[in-house]
Amino acid sequence: MIQFTGVAFGGLIMRPMTDEEIIRFFEMAIAGGQIFVYYQPQYNHSTGRIVGAEGLMRWRHPEFGLQYPVNFIPILEKYGLIHRADLFVFEQICRFQSNCPPSVRIPISFNVSRHDLFGHDYVKELEAIRKKYDVPVKYLHAEITESSAIGGIDLFIKAITQFHEAGYLVAMDDFGSGYSSLSVLKDLPVDILKFDLQFLAGEGLGGRGGIILNSAIQMAKWLETQVLAEGVETIEQADFLKSVGCNYVQGYLYSKPIPEEEMSRLLSTVDSEKISR
Ligand code: C2E
Ligand code: CA
Ligand code: CA
Repeated sequence: MIQFTGVAFGGLIMRPMTDEEIIRFFEMAIAGGQIFVYYQPQYNHSTGRIVGAEGLMRWRHPEFGLQYPVNFIPILEKYGLIHRADLFVFEQICRFQSNCPPSVRIPISFNVSRHDLFGHDYVKELEAIRKKYDVPVKYLHAEITESSAIGGIDLFIKAITQFHEAGYLVAMDDFGSGYSSLSVLKDLPVDILKFDLQFLAGEGLGGRGGIILNSAIQMAKWLETQVLAEGVETIEQADFLKSVGCNYVQGYLYSKPIPEEEMSRLLSTVDSEKISR
């Protein structure tokens, strides 16, 4: 892991934690409310309405400041702690949903790590939490990444089947950024494909990337799979997505991930709608 020199900020040492610190402080962080969820809204840009949000894990260490998933999630995965972290995040999302007035509730997605599925009856564990908070399953969407299916597609087919049997919609995260998209798409019966525009990385939409994206969106439609573009940062990207019929979007152009209180305020002031096929 890259180590940055600490920057002093109001007496705090703002720097990513080392692997050793992540492991040592993890339980304390869960117990002390240092780990929490930010919510990034998802919109239908042809109506301007909010259709959902993604729950994203954050860790604010009292000494080292805000930590981002890119620094600590791989370590939690490596040392067998991600399962505990993901259940905690799911519980926070369920708590948020149970406090949210039913008239303004929208589906919230949670990220599933492939490590969650190994050696755990994960859907059963989620179900116990969901029922405790009495949240209707239609307000919770699972996100799995296609790269995590490499080397063990059977585990994913089983997990998706279990999610579907329990009533969850399943989204495939980062679709197109792995190297086996077509076969993964053939074998995994997901409900939503999330395209990350970062795959275009620097290249405009007029080149090969735009053609591939357009074709992949049309293919998803023939498969009656909903599509959502994430990482949308510019008006040009938004216009392109509109022109190829991809209505559901998530990205800095619309909103950065926001704290829980801000998300509650947003929901009480804007119109929402359901994602429809
Ligand atoms: P992801 O699931 O692909 O989440 C989207 C990431 O893109 C988030 O980063 C989000 O803040 C960022 N993002 C959103 N809009 C834009 C944009 O317009 N431009 C750019 N450049 N980035 C944008 P974040 O929150 O740092 O999370 C990074 C990754 O960490 C996530 O990628 C996900 O794989 C993982 N992660 C986050 N929360 C959890 C969690 O609760 N459990 C697990 N297992 N993984 C998580
Ligand atoms: Ca995700
Ligand atoms: Ca993603």
